[in-house]
Amino acid sequence: MKIVVRCPKCDAGLPVSAADSPDSIECGGCGRVLALTWTEALRADTGVDQCPLCAGREFYIRKDFDPKVGLTVVVIGALISAVFYWFGEDLIAYSILGGAALIDLVVYGRLGDVTVCYRCHSEFRGKYPRTAPHFDLHTADVLEQEYERKIGRR
Ligand SMILES: [Zn+2]
Ligand SMILES: [Zn+2]
Repeated sequence: MKIVVRCPKCDAGLPVSAADSPDSIECGGCGRVLALTWTEALRADTGVDQCPLCAGREFYIRKDFDPKVGLTVVVIGALISAVFYWFGEDLIAYSILGGAALIDLVVYGRLGDVTVCYRCHSEFRGKYPRTAPHFDLHTADVLEQEYERKIGRR
């Protein structure tokens, strides 16, 4: 299992391999040393039961999707179709626009799921079965505030 631990101080994403299960990791952004606690399920890639950073047990599933990439495809598609539209080739313009949206959809559909910690936003990628529920805004509100109080951000 690959985990991207989110530094509570500077928000840098720090990749960690659960197979190595280090006791701590030093943040490359701010130099802070983060203590990590590993469960058997994390090490064996059989499930995400407890967050190694914040010890939280609430997680949610989201598509492993970089919104910037999707947006780029649509923007490029829109630009190209604008050129055709300018030259009066409406049909081609609309086809390109539709094509860009389709590519976006295909890319989105092929993505796997990633488990995310509600509290510290660490991400878990691996072969383990996805059991966490989908994102719930209310839960996120409550748990994020609790965590931010704990690490002294509020
Ligand atoms: Zn940091
Ligand atoms: Zn966490």
